Amino acid sequence: MKVTRIFKKLIMVFIFTIMYCGKTPIQSPIIYGLVIHGGAGTITKEKMTSEKEAEYRGKIMEALTAGYKILERGDPSLDAVEAVVRIMEDSPLFNAGKGAVFTNAGTNELDASIMDGSTLQAGAVAGVKTVKNPISAAREVMEKTWHVMLSGDGADHFAKEQGLEIVDNNYFFTERRWKALKKTQEVEKHGTVGCVALDKNGNIAAGTSTGGLTNKRWGRIGDTPIIGAGTYANNETCGVSGTGQGEYFIRGNIAYDVSALMIYRSLTIKDASDQVIDKLSVSGGKGGLIAMDRNGNIAMSFNTQGMYRGYRINGSESVIKIYSH
Ligand code: ASP
Repeated sequence: MKVTRIFKKLIMVFIFTIMYCGKTPIQSPIIYGLVIHGGAGTITKEKMTSEKEAEYRGKIMEALTAGYKILERGDPSLDAVEAVVRIMEDSPLFNAGKGAVFTNAGTNELDASIMDGSTLQAGAVAGVKTVKNPISAAREVMEKTWHVMLSGDGADHFAKEQGLEIVDNNYFFTERRWKALKKTQEVEKHGTVGCVALDKNGNIAAGTSTGGLTNKRWGRIGDTPIIGAGTYANNETCGVSGTGQGEYFIRGNIAYDVSALMIYRSLTIKDASDQVIDKLSVSGGKGGLIAMDRNGNIAMSFNTQGMYRGYRINGSESVIKIYSH
């Protein structure tokens, strides 16, 4: 009698297992995507022509589409970040790579950094003069050395050794930036580029590249190559890329602060980003940041009149914005 009861129970457990565990488990959707910026500053509709706006929108769209394709085929977020930033570095529209601003000595000195949120490894170059794509040099520093940052001639030399494309410093000459140097009122113009991407494996990467500030003292290094100031990525929290007056970003540890607020105070990415930009404003600094968490939530906060920015998440259309409203 007892044996039959035990047998019946076993049959029921068996049927239950088949019914509930045999079913295909409900899959949570794989989230991936990217958010990018092309600099924050005095960007207003009044100062913009429709042709210029179309040019900016076109280049941002090209960069977003290229990065999205990389993520869509399942490749790492680091590849997407590097590819996106390279496209923007090759465009004279942005203050990075080709379109870099001039120092007070009439030279171009470029900074860039990249960070892998899955390993917390990072790489940066500062004050390079001959590397066509500083973001790639930053990645080489991360992957081929045990250092985080290389600067000046040493960084240029290292990039050449790695087989990266080397150009004469004149390559970075653009009429527009030269004129800006001559007009001191344009000192505050920004145009740095950055990208944060989340890949199908849940890995976040962030990268930023800049020519710095127009009329900066030669030798000056901004926040862009400084991990925690201009760039930060951590799979546990988010990826961040900043743009604005670098000195304030360095003093305020702006990029890391977003992650810190999320981990220590459990703030959402939006609240953390807004709070950090409020802190930037209180300190007197101007600028903005883009950020993305591991669930694909994004933030694009800034205290300037505009910030070139865009994002594309999970099959949705690309969204591109320029002004504050
Ligand atoms: N943050 C950059 C720097 O200070 C400039 C910028 O974002 O426009 O070098």
